[in-house]
Amino acid sequence: MKKDEFYSFLRKIPKAEIHLHAEATLSRKTVQALLDRTPDSPAKPASVEKLFSYNNLKDFITSFLYVQGMITKLSDLEAMFDDVATYLKANNIVYCELFFSPSMFMKKGFAFPDMIDVIQKAIAKVEKRDKLTIKLIIDVSRTFGVENAQSNLESTLKHKAPMVIGIGLGGDEEKGPAKLFGDVYAEAIKRGLHVVAHAGEVVGPESIWDALNTLKVERIGHGLSAIQDPKLVQHLVEKQIPVEICLTSNVITQKYVTKAEDHPVRAYFDQGVLVVINTDDPTFFDCSIIDEFWILHTKLKFTMPEIKQLIINGFKASFLTPAQKDAYIAQVETAWGK
Ligand SMILES: [Zn+2]
Repeated sequence: MKKDEFYSFLRKIPKAEIHLHAEATLSRKTVQALLDRTPDSPAKPASVEKLFSYNNLKDFITSFLYVQGMITKLSDLEAMFDDVATYLKANNIVYCELFFSPSMFMKKGFAFPDMIDVIQKAIAKVEKRDKLTIKLIIDVSRTFGVENAQSNLESTLKHKAPMVIGIGLGGDEEKGPAKLFGDVYAEAIKRGLHVVAHAGEVVGPESIWDALNTLKVERIGHGLSAIQDPKLVQHLVEKQIPVEICLTSNVITQKYVTKAEDHPVRAYFDQGVLVVINTDDPTFFDCSIIDEFWILHTKLKFTMPEIKQLIINGFKASFLTPAQKDAYIAQVETAWGK
């Protein structure tokens, strides 16, 4: 299939994206406007292009935190959801489980309930306007230590909003190993939250085992290093634990793969792992979910029926109810046609 045909066909298919960071879905135009109003300092990048140029996770996180740092008003958070909605609509993503990382904002003095209030209203507005559904996963973060994660969880539980469905663990995987966060996750599970974690993005398979055994996560974010441990891959297959693949993100941060062709997603899929395709940070990596499917189709030889299966997996791996999943999957089948 030619590229333009592929893109216009895929745009017609309803999709889910379940590993996407809100702050990384700000449009470049919005980032430019934030940069324009940010006072000069030695840390200030000379341009948006400079801000978005990195080739490892550490420098990427520095940029991510810099972008968060430019968000100084609650109304910026509201605007952020307009950009999220624009991205979702452009790719016909009808259901999204979105990460929001409050740590940096709280350090700057934003109050958690104020943020949740603004976000809740912003989501309600775009859901109604754009006919899509957004659920939030609060990223309690590895980067700022256990006490910070515990305090994020407490705030999440205290100001429980219906669109908040779980917690996640993003940030610096080397600095904040999963096993430190066992108590935080046990409490979250006890209180009825879903739990996921980034794992095996820049650390070996032991990090994924820790996320599974200590944190009891329901899904693995990235899971890139699982390929080094056949027993782990077998475990993911047997338990059908979804792995949230973020291919372009992994290629750009260059820890285990430097080109798409070397990504283990093909091997995972062929061995029966429940893989789901995501962008992670579309603005930071200059990609969309349809771009990701195009790369899979052209560089990793995913056939069209396999692409359809990957799209269905997006709903299967979500935290929707079985009936909701069936309804969305039926929509995919109808849109796909024969
Ligand atoms: Zn991520």
